Amino acid sequence: MELLEERKCRLALVVDDEPFIRVLVREVLEQSGYQVCEAENGEQALERFAEYRPDIVLMDIVMPGMDGFTAASKLRGLVGGSRVPILVMTGLDDNESIAKAYEQGATDFITKPFNPMILDHRVRYLLRSTRMLDALLKSEARLGIAQRIAKIGNWEWRPDTNQFAASAELCRLMGIRQQDFSSTFDGYIQRVHAEDRTQVEEALKGLLINQVPCVLDHRLVLPNGGSISVNLQAELILDDQMKALSVIGTTQDISDRKQSEREIHRLAYYDSLTGLPNRVLFKDRVEQALLHGRRYRTTLALLFLDLDRFKVINDTLGHNVGDLLLKSVADRLAESVRHSDSICRSVDKGENHSLARLGGDEFTVLLTNLQDAQDAGKVARRIVESLQKSFLIEGREIFVTVSVGIAIFPVDGESVDALLKNADSAMYHAKEQGRNNFQFYSNSLNATANERLVLEGELRHAVDREEFVVYYQPQIDLKTGAIIGAEALVRWQHPKRGLIHPGEFLPAAVDTGLSRTIDEWVLKTACRHIQAWQQRGKMPVRISINISNSLFHGNTLLSVVEKSLRQTGLTPACLELELTESIAMRNVEASIIMLTALKSMGVQLSIDDFGTGYSSLSYLQRLPIDTVKIDQSFIHEILTETHPAPIVRAIIAMAHSLDLLVLAEGVEQEAQRVLLLAQGCDQAQGYLFGQPMPADIFAQSLPAVSLRKAG
Ligand code: C2E
Ligand code: MG
Ligand code: MG
Repeated sequence: MELLEERKCRLALVVDDEPFIRVLVREVLEQSGYQVCEAENGEQALERFAEYRPDIVLMDIVMPGMDGFTAASKLRGLVGGSRVPILVMTGLDDNESIAKAYEQGATDFITKPFNPMILDHRVRYLLRSTRMLDALLKSEARLGIAQRIAKIGNWEWRPDTNQFAASAELCRLMGIRQQDFSSTFDGYIQRVHAEDRTQVEEALKGLLINQVPCVLDHRLVLPNGGSISVNLQAELILDDQMKALSVIGTTQDISDRKQSEREIHRLAYYDSLTGLPNRVLFKDRVEQALLHGRRYRTTLALLFLDLDRFKVINDTLGHNVGDLLLKSVADRLAESVRHSDSICRSVDKGENHSLARLGGDEFTVLLTNLQDAQDAGKVARRIVESLQKSFLIEGREIFVTVSVGIAIFPVDGESVDALLKNADSAMYHAKEQGRNNFQFYSNSLNATANERLVLEGELRHAVDREEFVVYYQPQIDLKTGAIIGAEALVRWQHPKRGLIHPGEFLPAAVDTGLSRTIDEWVLKTACRHIQAWQQRGKMPVRISINISNSLFHGNTLLSVVEKSLRQTGLTPACLELELTESIAMRNVEASIIMLTALKSMGVQLSIDDFGTGYSSLSYLQRLPIDTVKIDQSFIHEILTETHPAPIVRAIIAMAHSLDLLVLAEGVEQEAQRVLLLAQGCDQAQGYLFGQPMPADIFAQSLPAVSLRKAG
């Protein structure tokens, strides 16, 4: 394909001061079909050239006025002169002139007198090679344009020298000037986005070994800090011994394509109003979660949310307000679902896929890895409560509530559709129940959720009415067998259900924020009890109080302890506070400050249920505690299993090395006592020595002060 129109007949410019030579050359050339124009000297040659733009110039050297050297050199600077073949005709046949002629831009030479046939051949040859060069240059230029249009850069990497030749277009893509590129493999790799670097490096180096062409997408970082997405394709070039010679490749800017792919993805999988995943993506996520759930036998929950009376708002206040409200609702839902992280884990950490908008005023939430189906109720409740605060839309206060239906995998359905259908029908049930609430699909779960709701209501009353009692379980010195204290354990004296153990109501107390109040009450009550016992002449003993997370990490603990001690006049050492490893671990620095403050008041400190958390004894070193309570699960298995005995022995040894006392919890059998004593354990607590008992009964078991003195 020729882009420029060609002259029908080739034109030669013959420059010679000798008319005879000009005629001779003209004859030879015209016979071969060329057109010929003439010039007598250098100046004329330049003029003729500018006028006719000949295809070839035949130039004499020695001429009056401007000689051939000068003319050739000047001609090169004229428009179209850079590539025209200049055939120097020299009568001198001396090497010096020939060399000088080449220096000045001659393409070739022929000596006079010349053989017409050789002249003809020489001219023909020069024209042909010029044509080829022209065609090559044109095609390179076209390739360059095509590459620029397609944003494709090409390169060649020589693994032996590590040289990396980058085309102009590749440099343009990298945002640098070609002369600024280091032309090394590392020079390219450094411009690859840090996250893609290993992949690119491995692919290109792998190509040398596996010899299979490679194709991959990666990002290039531009000098301005921005980046572009590129598609890289590379092939290995082998030498004739089949050894890797070089890698040739292209790098194409595909940022626009990537951007439209992202846009298409967003349109296909996200809701444009709220930016939440849409039904398609949600179902896809549920599908994935179900695969995982089936494989690892985990519990999932699908929550179906429908706003109550949204249609009324939409119809009376207009779609614009309706849209803005939906957006705000979506934000608030996302917020409350995010806070459910402690309860469950969304499918893909970091991205909130668990909340979606199905359309209209319908939203869904996926909860994965549930410990307990009832936990879905907790999230649902939080969602219902989160919408209880009004929304401010365009200066107007709007109230909207939500009804939530919950379906649990695997009990309520095993497929996305079944779960969606059942969550939907549970949602209708919630609407029937008066809206603004949640319902499980399964009745038994609803019953449990309702029981829990009732329990929470009653618990609030119980706190107001002080329906709690403190029981005491004796703790003994293993060596002497003497009572050294007791653990205070709370019980709920329920008006109808009788005595309820903490395991049944403490979780609800934690969820409703009542645990701190209960603990404070137990602390004050226990202090009063100790004071009363001492007034009755009983030997002072140490009473351990369990401290919940909210009391420990709240800001009332110090003042409550201080006040209780002050009001009862107790010796602080009679009071021990127990906290679990996980409570102390939650914020180690804050824990150290709090424990140090308590310690300076003279209170004793212990770590409860030791061994069930993740902490090590070495970390306990940082805490100013006195006692470690080994969890009962170790003690129960100490005789039967192979591992607990060495573990218990190790805990005792290490605790002692840190100057801590060790108390074994849940000692039920004589054999356990004997073993623990043999292992050097200091203290124990358990049914073997006494069940938790009411204050009065416990007091009876305490020796009198005088007795001890006498003993
Ligand atoms: P904990 O602090 O580890 O208390 C020991 C639990 O083990 C008590 O259960 C006790 O009755 C039981 N136990 C004692 N000896 C034996 C035994 O030999 N065998 C068996 N199987 N169990 C034994 P309880 O009273 O039901 O308390 C359960 C948990 O509730 C306590 O575990 C403690 O974490 C918490 N708790 C109890 N009272 C309070 C309180 O006033 N405040 C707070 N925050 N938590 C409390
Ligand atoms: Mg305890
Ligand atoms: Mg314990």
